[in-house]
Amino acid sequence: MDPRLHASRTGADGAARARAGAPVPFSHTRLTRNERTEVAKLYFRYGAMNSSKTALLLTAAYNYEERAQHPVIVKPGTDTKAGEAVSSRIGVERAVDVLLPADASLEAELRAHRPFDQIDAIFIDEAQFLTPAQVDEAFVIAVQHGIPVLCYGLRGDFMTRSFPGSLRLLEIAHSIEELKTICRCGSKAIFNGRVVGGVFVSHGEQVAIDGQQADYESLCGRCYLEKVGPVQAAGVPEQERPALF
Ligand SMILES: [Zn+2]
Repeated sequence: MDPRLHASRTGADGAARARAGAPVPFSHTRLTRNERTEVAKLYFRYGAMNSSKTALLLTAAYNYEERAQHPVIVKPGTDTKAGEAVSSRIGVERAVDVLLPADASLEAELRAHRPFDQIDAIFIDEAQFLTPAQVDEAFVIAVQHGIPVLCYGLRGDFMTRSFPGSLRLLEIAHSIEELKTICRCGSKAIFNGRVVGGVFVSHGEQVAIDGQQADYESLCGRCYLEKVGPVQAAGVPEQERPALF
C-alpha cells in the first residue's frame, strides 16, 4: 500500500512510522478498497430533459471499459422508457446490468450481479427514481466500499418539485454537477414541462402512468411561468403564492 495512505489514516505518528518503513498499526476496520476508498464519491449529475444525461453516462462508462475496468449500469425499475436498456435519444444504448425495483436493496442487487471487488464504478441512470433509502445505500457503497457511484437524473418533475431520490442526492452527494441544456428561447433550461395532447399541463401524477402519452420539453424559468403556470412549492397555501408577472 502507498505509505501516504497510511499516513492519512493514522495521523502524524503513523506518517513518521511509514516514512521510517515501520509497520503502521491499523485501528480502523480493514479497508476493502485501499486507495480507492480515499477518493470514491457519490456523484449527482442532474439536468433538465434533453441535457444528454444518458449519453454522458454511457460515455463515462465506456471510458472505464476502455481502461479494462468494470462499470455496472443500474436503472431504477420505475423507468420503463426503454425496458432493460439505458437509452440515449441520440441513439446510443446498452443493456442494463441491474434493474432495481423500488423495494429492493441496491447493495443486495449489486452483489447478486457481481462481487464488489470486481466492480470499479456504478452508474445509475434515471436516478431521480431511486428511493431515498437506496440513495443512502449508494453513499455507503461509495464511502465504505470505495466504489464511485455516479447518478444521473432529473432534479425536479414537471410541477417543479423534486423527486424523493433527487432530493436525497442533493442532500448527501459529495459532488453535485449541473448538466446544462437550453430552452427553446435560448436561455438555460431548468424545468421540465409535461405536454399531453399538445398542451402543457401543470398538475398530474409525478410519474406518468403507463399508457398515458406524455412528452416533455425543457424550459427556462420565464417560459415555464408563461407556458405552464406558477411555480408552486408543495404544501404552500394558494394565497401565499406569488402572482404571475
Ligand atoms: Zn425559455
